[in-house]
Amino acid sequence: MRSYNLVWFRQDLRISDHSALWHASQNAPCIGLVVLSPQQHLLHDDASIKIDFYLRQLQALKNQLAQLNIPLIIQTVPLWSDIPTAVSQLCTQLSTSHPIQNIYANIELGVNELKRDLQLQQTLNKQGLDLILYHDRTLFPVGSVRNQSMKPYQIFSAFKKYAYQQLSLAIPRCFPSPKPQIAIKLPSEYESTVPNLETWGWAAVPQKQQNLWAVTEQHAQQLLDDFVHQHMQDYQQQRDFPARSGTSRLSAYLNCGVLSIRQCLAAVFASSQGHFHLENIGQQTWLDELLWREFYQHILFDYPKVSQHQPFKDQTAKIVWCNDPAGLAAWQQGQTGIPIVDAGMRQLLHTGWMHNRVRMITAMFLCKNLLIDWRLGEQWFMQHLIDGDLAANNGGWQWCASTGTDAVPYFRIFNPVSQSQKFDPQGDYIRSWLPELAHLDAKHIHEPYAKNPNLKLNYPQPIVDLKQSRLRAIEAFKQL
Ligand code: FAD
Repeated sequence: MRSYNLVWFRQDLRISDHSALWHASQNAPCIGLVVLSPQQHLLHDDASIKIDFYLRQLQALKNQLAQLNIPLIIQTVPLWSDIPTAVSQLCTQLSTSHPIQNIYANIELGVNELKRDLQLQQTLNKQGLDLILYHDRTLFPVGSVRNQSMKPYQIFSAFKKYAYQQLSLAIPRCFPSPKPQIAIKLPSEYESTVPNLETWGWAAVPQKQQNLWAVTEQHAQQLLDDFVHQHMQDYQQQRDFPARSGTSRLSAYLNCGVLSIRQCLAAVFASSQGHFHLENIGQQTWLDELLWREFYQHILFDYPKVSQHQPFKDQTAKIVWCNDPAGLAAWQQGQTGIPIVDAGMRQLLHTGWMHNRVRMITAMFLCKNLLIDWRLGEQWFMQHLIDGDLAANNGGWQWCASTGTDAVPYFRIFNPVSQSQKFDPQGDYIRSWLPELAHLDAKHIHEPYAKNPNLKLNYPQPIVDLKQSRLRAIEAFKQL
């Protein structure tokens, strides 16, 4: 009887440049597998908008696989700990009609992910099967990037230097999409439909929000091409202004794996025929941002404590944070009385995304001006971001809280009003998210009550004094 390879898709919902799919397709016909674990999403604080995006892209993947004659089996189990048994049983059941040779997947980096895969590997080995894993999510295999002392890099500039050296030797190439294979007809019990959030009894994501984030690989590739051809050159000048379309908005596609990091690099270096040649500062700056993503993924792998609610810098575990539920709630709902902070938090609530400059401003405001534990902010972001990613989110928060690797020094605290004046000079970004301030001019919108504390507005007074709270934060860190 012919045997088959099972390709397990996880955070890599695409067919082009997919390491595991390409390798699996080289020696046997493939059957696709996705295992959904709704309870695990809740444990990981995954945002509804992110899960909804995943499920919509899953439908698109199923359609694409069908064109290659690759059937997709979708299983649902509550938790990842249920996966080893479920997948092993699936292989046993399939053995009567479509015996499985091996299971192929791309490596996922978190502690729980690695534990889950190890358990599955052990279970499969007992059945004479193997789980074959590929590095796919990063440019360089995790665990392989080491300095001269054979230690992981802790400073981004040194990591970047290493990355530039490696890329100048060779830029990782993309894998081709597999060709259509022989038709496979699975028994009807394996036919699966893609669920939506309501199938799980969860609230649906409003159509208006879904429309902001169209799926399909083709769409993601189009966004990448448009960005590279129309915006990349000016990225360095435009990227910090939240009212402008200066960034790629590709994070959700990268995190869900609709797009690969190699495809981004191929686009960056398309004009130099795939060779490492930096032509302008915009291109270099965007490459550096992709390397920040890479850096945090390696940190997560090399220092798993960061994913277990611990600071990277051990001594910062002693900081005494404020217990301030009212301040936290005001921040979460965009009601702090600091317009740029509130605009960012409302952009997050309305779209599932926030501009990077504003992520830094809002995060620093929470953990420095309000002196609220960064982990509460990290959790709120994760619960609302469409691009929520453990490594990048944790890295961003620990950078702002001065607890992380290569973090901002504790005494360099952003003043949100100056940041607002600098990066949203006309107040356009604030106006688009805070309609109650839309009538204010560029001079007053950043700090509406500064000149006139009695101004009548349907908008709160600042919940904290920026100067005093800055000094309080510096003092709290100095105590260490
Ligand atoms: P672009 O500016 O076009 O950058 C291209 C890509 O590079 C991004 O899509 C992203 O994959 C990567 N990237 C850019 N900046 C960073 C960075 N500082 N760290 C890591 N990767 C980066 N990014 C996430 O993908 N998921 C998160 O959960 C996340 N949480 C964050 C939390 C905080 C507090 C901060 C300060 C930053 C966070 N970031 C996160 C990083 C960054 O804000 C987003 O990647 C970026 O805003 C996404 O927009 P873009 O795709 O237009 O980015």
